[in-house]
Amino acid sequence: MSESFILLVEDEESLASFIETELTFEGYRVVWAKNGQEAMTFYQEYQEDITLILLDWMLPIYDGITVARRIRKVSEVPIIMMTARNQTTDIVVGLDTGLDDYLTKPFEIEELFARIRVIERRLQKQEQVFDMLSYHGIKMDIAKHQVTLEEEVIDLTPKEFGILYELMKTPEVVKTRDELLNDIWGYEYDGQTNVVDVYIRTLRNKIGAKTYGKMIQTVRGVGYVLRNDNEK
Ligand code: CA
Repeated sequence: MSESFILLVEDEESLASFIETELTFEGYRVVWAKNGQEAMTFYQEYQEDITLILLDWMLPIYDGITVARRIRKVSEVPIIMMTARNQTTDIVVGLDTGLDDYLTKPFEIEELFARIRVIERRLQKQEQVFDMLSYHGIKMDIAKHQVTLEEEVIDLTPKEFGILYELMKTPEVVKTRDELLNDIWGYEYDGQTNVVDVYIRTLRNKIGAKTYGKMIQTVRGVGYVLRNDNEK
């Protein structure tokens, strides 16, 4: 999981400080710029790390739209614009500029978190697509939708295949139940999260509970990880 690093551009100190505190509390790294010029300076300094820009429209020196235009020339980094209510008609201009989303002030902090999460999910979906995955004798041919264990083809349902695919994409990285639910059932799924456990169990059995199945490890209270302990 890559760390989320937000460039917050806001000239209103009390609002900026509130947003910064809340984001930090949620685990985001935040750097705060208080005008358009600082925004550009910080952007250049941290562009490798910045994963999202939260940009006020009305700013000293350069306004938010100017900042967004400049950044769009060099980067597709997601930008959420914050506007005052009387600027909503200008938002069309903003969306043409390549903004990803906008929030009308005043907004609830939960609303901001929700918008950020939507963008993060979209980015995750755009992550690299693989044709072929393999891990210690398990091979997945994505195009053929085929799984083989030491060259022997194993029949999996689409959901089992999906779970194995998510685990194989990032072996040795823990996937939470929620992440697996979002990836395979879609985040609008509001049933029980233990549906993942049920599929994990059938998946383990199909790939051999005593052999490959053991590589799908339970991380208690968190989720699952694909890990081969035998070679460590
Ligand atoms: Ca402002």
